[in-house]
Amino acid sequence: MTHIILCRVKDYDPFLVRPALSGAFRLLNVISRFQPGENILLKPNLLSAVSPERAVTPHPVVFAALAEALAGLDLKLSYGDSPAISQPAAAARMAGLTEVADRMGIAQADFSTSTSVRFNQGVHFKEAPIANGVLAADGLVNLCKLKTHALTGMTGAVKNLFGIIVGPRKAQLHVQYPDLQSFAHMLSDLNREFPPRLTVMDAIVAMEGNGPMNGTPRSCGWLIIGFDPVAIDAVGAVIMGYDPDDLVVLKTAQRAGLGLADPGTIRITLFDAETGETTGQGSLKDYSSQLTMPDFVRPAVSRSLMTLATKVAGPLIKRHIMERPAIRPDVCTRCGQCVKACPVDPKVLSQKQPDAVPAYRYDRCIRCYCCQEICPVGSIIVESAWPGRLVSGSLRTKG
Ligand code: SF4
Ligand code: SF4
Repeated sequence: MTHIILCRVKDYDPFLVRPALSGAFRLLNVISRFQPGENILLKPNLLSAVSPERAVTPHPVVFAALAEALAGLDLKLSYGDSPAISQPAAAARMAGLTEVADRMGIAQADFSTSTSVRFNQGVHFKEAPIANGVLAADGLVNLCKLKTHALTGMTGAVKNLFGIIVGPRKAQLHVQYPDLQSFAHMLSDLNREFPPRLTVMDAIVAMEGNGPMNGTPRSCGWLIIGFDPVAIDAVGAVIMGYDPDDLVVLKTAQRAGLGLADPGTIRITLFDAETGETTGQGSLKDYSSQLTMPDFVRPAVSRSLMTLATKVAGPLIKRHIMERPAIRPDVCTRCGQCVKACPVDPKVLSQKQPDAVPAYRYDRCIRCYCCQEICPVGSIIVESAWPGRLVSGSLRTKG
């Protein structure tokens, strides 16, 4: 059984977040996982240069409290990420992390240059350009955010590692691993090669709806801490109302031996940051009905069912049944960024005139959702073609 701490933290008050982390560090004996003097990279999920209120990135108060707790273990800290959309320095600044790091003397790691690394243990994914800031560290701490994700259903700890790959190679990987199952294998190999020493998930305010970039902040009130990133994601999944077994990334990571996703195998301790008391202990399965937010707005289609269907019936299913990106013309500013972001060659999206709403060729679309992720105004949503709604038995619930 793996052990995860769920700290009840109602908002980003430093006087709640700090004791939550120190309580979790004590309960997990985090000190045993580090050696004094080690160089440790803090890897926040910095998808884009947006302010903390958007709930796209981990909150700076969590970043600061985590950095303080790690510095207390006599570690040398650096931080960084390779954002999907913006430059690393701009993303860190907008997220409020640069100010914290400068104040605490935490160096910004090099996420602009990379070195091609051969993965000794890679099964499906054997080589990638890894940020030199990652390679310079003795280990990394995964600081992720709980959010919905059009491709994977949710994003948290396992997907956060994608950001250690630098630059345009990330987009190309969507083409190299075009379906969810192969993408999940790739993420598992990446996590196996660069296992985090510790994972902290900011679910104090999560993101629901049109995530991971343009969703709606949703107050959940949890800071989730542990050594097993798969189990951390399983806890996040349960909060969102998923059965972790329906999420291909988690199922694949569990099968690859990277951690546990089955709620019956995850031991959780509930810790109240306000009182400093442990308020419950048991398996995630025991607590799932208590933790689940039934009205959490998430992608409605069963991902495992759709992946299976795509494998069996191929492009026909993909074209007519599988969910797909769609542009809301009333919101679209015709900026063309989605066209540029599409990694498929020739591009699936095209703009006939500079002032036209881009149009899709769904038969060639690999459903990577890079376009949906990059749209600066949240104009791209995920919709089900009507036969897909019949197959999945559900209607999409998000706007
Ligand atoms: S990125 Fe968004 S706003 Fe810009 S053209 Fe594409 S859909 Fe329209
Ligand atoms: S159109 Fe969008 S979802 Fe389809 S392949 Fe291009 S970026 Fe990916």
